[in-house]
Amino acid sequence: MQSAATSLSSLFATKPVVAEKRSSLGLRRRNIRIRRQMLGYVCISYFVDTLLLAIYAQSGALPWSIAPIYLGCGLAHALIFCLLYETRLGNLFSDPYLVVPQAIFGMSIMLGFAWLAPEAGFLFLCNLFIVFSFSSLRATAQETAVVWTAMATGLSILLLGSDKQIEIPLHTFTERVATLLAFVFTVGRCMFIGIFSSSLRASLYNKSVQLKEAYRRIEELAELDELTGAFNRRCIMRMLDDEVARAQRSNTPCSVALIDLDWFKRINDSHGHPIGDEVLRTFAITVFANIRNIDRFGRYGGEEFLLVMPETASAAAANILDRLRLIVAELDWSAFSSGMAVTISAGVAEMNPGEPPDALLARADEALYAAKEAGRNRVARA
Ligand code: GH3
Ligand code: MG
Ligand code: MG
Repeated sequence: MQSAATSLSSLFATKPVVAEKRSSLGLRRRNIRIRRQMLGYVCISYFVDTLLLAIYAQSGALPWSIAPIYLGCGLAHALIFCLLYETRLGNLFSDPYLVVPQAIFGMSIMLGFAWLAPEAGFLFLCNLFIVFSFSSLRATAQETAVVWTAMATGLSILLLGSDKQIEIPLHTFTERVATLLAFVFTVGRCMFIGIFSSSLRASLYNKSVQLKEAYRRIEELAELDELTGAFNRRCIMRMLDDEVARAQRSNTPCSVALIDLDWFKRINDSHGHPIGDEVLRTFAITVFANIRNIDRFGRYGGEEFLLVMPETASAAAANILDRLRLIVAELDWSAFSSGMAVTISAGVAEMNPGEPPDALLARADEALYAAKEAGRNRVARA
């Protein structure tokens, strides 16, 4: 059966425009959620550091003022970017996640505090790894180079431009515990960012699979007739051109049939337009179920359909059509509406050597007219 037939059942299931709007809204919500999540992690990270700084302060390695100032700076970082996200000002930038500004902001805090509190400077330098892993979540190669250069410059100023003694507090047992925790948490946060990044990548991969599927469906819908699921006129005419050209090239026979439902106006008038639609749909499904893979079936217009039968000579094509005619005539149409009967007439024509598609179609149309004239519910050969 043709590929168009497989999508018949799903064809009427969703309205693509509504689905598209819904998916872009979903994508926006998802981006907002990820940004909030990222800021949440930034806050947690600053809180963890503040706790460690408080332990150092408690043991006397640092002045007490450092921890609250550090927390204030961290929260200011989160607040500024939260405002940029929530007011959608961030959307004005090419990367709405503002990875580079965030990384440079975070880095400045770390280098500034390594300068201010070199007694626990290792903690802030360790955090540079976190800032860098965080920025590599979304940064391009160019952005990574910018962040890396900024980091190298800041470190050079700190280490070469000053004589600050960057220390690891290890004087007391409490300081050793805090230092141990600082290392463990640094590695843990880097690992967490790695996991977060791989889950983002997995979700991006899923999105790309969904997008591909949506694209395939859009292409399919552009080729199909909405009511019957058969190929639409534009598509079946293109297929006719292709098949005729192929048959001319390979010197093989190719036949076409124009199929028209008999007295269809009466069906509409007696049983109603919706039932008429149902008849068209059922007729198309019946044809799909009874043609070969190589045949192409499309709606030519109204209650008229075109069947293209490659590698088929006129006699075989007439047999196929007669079989279809019988199947349609014998269907229990009264199930749709009592007393209803549906028959079809068809005009079959085989391509002559060098004959263009429109001439072939014109001969099939003449044959169809002859079948109608001869009393309908029959197949005529050109
Ligand atoms: P004949 O046997 O000579 O073909 O007679 P007919 O009544 O089938 O032909 P006619 O051209 O007089 O009428 C075709 C009818 O098909 C008229 C039109 O309203 C109906 N029709 C065309 N497209 C659709 C459709 O999508 N749905 C429904 N329900 N009817 C349609
Ligand atoms: Mg008709
Ligand atoms: Mg007609």
